[in-house]
Amino acid sequence: MQNIRFFNTLTKKVEDFVPNEPGKVKLYTCGPTVYHYAHIGNLRCYIMEDILDRTLRYFGYDVKRVMNITDVGHLSGDSDDGDDKMVAGAKREHKTVMQIAKFYTDAFFDDCRKLNIRRPDVVEPATNCVPEFIHMVSALLEKGFAYIAGDNVYFDTSKLKNYYVLSNMNEQDLMVGVRDDVSEDTNKRNKADFVLWFTKSKFDSQELKWESPWGLGYPGWHIECSCISMKHCGEKLDIHCGGVDNIFPHHTNEIAQSEAYIGHKWCNYWFHVHHLNDKNGKMSKSKGEFLTVSLLEDKGYDPLVYRMFCLQSHYRKPLEFSYENLDNVKAAYEKLRRQTSKLVSEAGKGVLNETDACEAYRNKFKEALGNDLNSSSAITVLYDVLKSELSQEEKASLIKEFDTVLNLDLDKALQEKETSVDNETKAYVEAKIAERAEAKKAKDFAKADAIREELLSKGIVIKDTREGTVWEIQ
Ligand code: AMP
Ligand code: ZN
Repeated sequence: MQNIRFFNTLTKKVEDFVPNEPGKVKLYTCGPTVYHYAHIGNLRCYIMEDILDRTLRYFGYDVKRVMNITDVGHLSGDSDDGDDKMVAGAKREHKTVMQIAKFYTDAFFDDCRKLNIRRPDVVEPATNCVPEFIHMVSALLEKGFAYIAGDNVYFDTSKLKNYYVLSNMNEQDLMVGVRDDVSEDTNKRNKADFVLWFTKSKFDSQELKWESPWGLGYPGWHIECSCISMKHCGEKLDIHCGGVDNIFPHHTNEIAQSEAYIGHKWCNYWFHVHHLNDKNGKMSKSKGEFLTVSLLEDKGYDPLVYRMFCLQSHYRKPLEFSYENLDNVKAAYEKLRRQTSKLVSEAGKGVLNETDACEAYRNKFKEALGNDLNSSSAITVLYDVLKSELSQEEKASLIKEFDTVLNLDLDKALQEKETSVDNETKAYVEAKIAERAEAKKAKDFAKADAIREELLSKGIVIKDTREGTVWEIQ
């Protein structure tokens, strides 16, 4: 098992990762709220989480990754204010909540497929788990961590010694955070308290409601992730992921209710991805151009160009999106694929006797990823391999291996050459060489040169040897 270190938001340090059970990782990811297409900011988060997931697997860990689908309870204010995003989405499209949930869940996984994001081992919609939510809320009431007020059930944050353990917030920040247009919920005993279960609220239009001991209602967003994580990963979670905007209140509230419920520490490592920004600041669905994977495709970008764009910057730094930057990555990505496809791939076809140099590149690649997931340094190692003195077979083998983490379809680029050489290209080049031989025989040297140039423009180099004319793709 290879060591990996990454920044733990809980301790605010880069730490060596030590799972609860040697060799096994329980990983939870906050999934999308399926009221609209994911924008490419959301997808930055899932791409970088995918790199974490794949690095852990590459390093030899047995990973179980769980993701929820938020199809109820996420209000536009992230706390208990604003409209339910799903209800607003259904209204916008004149459909039911479940219709839009299905449509945008499928759209999300379609985007993930195009971006080579591995589907988590377990994907669980919140609406599947209402009995689990009711169970946890009942237990929190019994233990005295929750109270009923105005018919809603609230979590009492004053019962915890260290509610703000994850964020650097305090009660004072919350006072400042209350927006003028949001009326304060007078049912709350403390400013930071949050709703576990809504029965009576201003959301009369809420479409999905369930019977509960507290009346007909629906769950708050935060309880969903605690329950779904525990349902599939048990009471000890290794890593919890999300975007930095989830640190407060969502993840802070998840810790509060989970640890109050189980009575011990819940999750050891918190992994947060920084935002994708545009010129207006954090990319969101409500302002600026609504950038989706399909829009990038319509503009002629391979979705994997966007994956590479994300990998070239560190997950803990804000990333600024611009078409100019994307164009640069596009050119780099196309060149990388071309260079890769020129390699003669014998990788995987037999035992390769690796040199020490080959092992050294592998170690560098692992070092980059193992050191707080430095994906851009990992890509630099890939370029170093291409430029190196290694044999073509070694290069092809390493690139194939690196691509199990980077997933830029470089393995496909390696195969491209074999297929095209075997099929069309071979027939085309042989015909051109025969035509050139005829031209030379007829002393039409201009035509012979023109054929050589034509082949060269396609990256095909021909050489006249004593055995006849040979060719290769460069
Ligand atoms: P949502 O669908 O709103 O629940 O968000 C899904 C994920 O995307 C969450 O983990 C958010 O933290 C993350 N996210 C939202 N906006 C951005 C952004 N501009 N850049 C990166 N991640 C984001
Ligand atoms: Zn969550």
